[in-house]
Amino acid sequence: MAQDEFERALSYANSTLSLLKRGEIPPYPQFYELFYIYSTGVNKALNERINAVFSDARLPSLEVVESLYNEFLKTHQIDERVNNVSGRMCENIDSVQEIIRSASKTARSYSGSLEEANSTLDADIDPAALKLLTKSLLAKTRQMQTNNKQLEDRLEATRAEMASLQGDLDEVRRDAMTDSLTNLSNRKHFDRELERLIQRANETNRPLCLVMIDIDHFKTFNDTYGHQTGDQVLRLVAATLRKNVRVSDVAARYGGEEFSLILPNTELKDATIISNKIRKTIQAKELLKRSTNEKLGRITASFGISRLVSKDSPATLIERADLALYAAKHAGRNKVVAENDKLMQTKTAA
Ligand code: GH3
Ligand code: MG
Ligand code: MG
Repeated sequence: MAQDEFERALSYANSTLSLLKRGEIPPYPQFYELFYIYSTGVNKALNERINAVFSDARLPSLEVVESLYNEFLKTHQIDERVNNVSGRMCENIDSVQEIIRSASKTARSYSGSLEEANSTLDADIDPAALKLLTKSLLAKTRQMQTNNKQLEDRLEATRAEMASLQGDLDEVRRDAMTDSLTNLSNRKHFDRELERLIQRANETNRPLCLVMIDIDHFKTFNDTYGHQTGDQVLRLVAATLRKNVRVSDVAARYGGEEFSLILPNTELKDATIISNKIRKTIQAKELLKRSTNEKLGRITASFGISRLVSKDSPATLIERADLALYAAKHAGRNKVVAENDKLMQTKTAA
């Protein structure tokens, strides 16, 4: 490495560390990477966003930094992985074309030898010459068998590589729709699924409910026990959701400490029963700090439910579930409120 290149990288590293210090952001590898790229200035959009975050008088929350990382670098990684797979796919296709070219060349040459032997046989031929001809044909046949075997082996290796690439692509696809902290569907996947399932519910004339869930007083929890313990709670809530829904349902992390469930073929009454079951399970869990086994008490969550009506768009359905969630918070939290609930009427009347 040239001296000036070394000096440049070192100055980026120093500026990365001072930015992390200034924002009181822990120098975890992903945050270091984010601010290193900021320091280099290669990504204009990223720099504009970080400048905006730092222009705020308050320190940026880890949540904001994490979402910047997910937005700018994680998707970038996914693009890179897709590019890598498609590059390897192209190489494999080239290799198959080369195998086919090679196979037809061998076949052409063999059939040339047969033609030549045929014309020699047409003329009178003495036994010694016949013996020679047979020997040479035999050698050519063996050569072709060896060639074919090699081509078959190469073809098989290419087939195996293609299958492994298919597996890599499936993994990239799965990662692109999964929230990395909770392993639930991410917001992007949720948006897509909500649109698709609303359309299907309308086509099949089946009910569909949407549940919006928000952890109660989570800011206080984070402030008291720290963000990492907060993250453990998010995982715990996610696991509870996953355990209590059907495979045809979608459980997603909607954002921050909000979750949502799309429940196809479900009426408001049943969505309320499922939500209450989840609510009670969350409330019943006694939280322990992993590192010290310290008791952290319990957390609760509030739930709002809407049911699809014929004119609904994803936005209107979400809006009504949000209103019901708001009513649940307003009524004292740790509650499930459906949009037809009397709590909603008091809320709207108020
Ligand atoms: P409410 O009962 O009204 O919902 O109060 P709240 O404190 O839960 O609501 P508020 O919207 O004021 O705060 C949400 C908090 O959730 C802020 C942030 O600290 C926390 N949070 C959001 N995303 C994450 C995350 O990814 N990890 C952790 N640990 N905390 C998060
Ligand atoms: Mg919230
Ligand atoms: Mg909350």
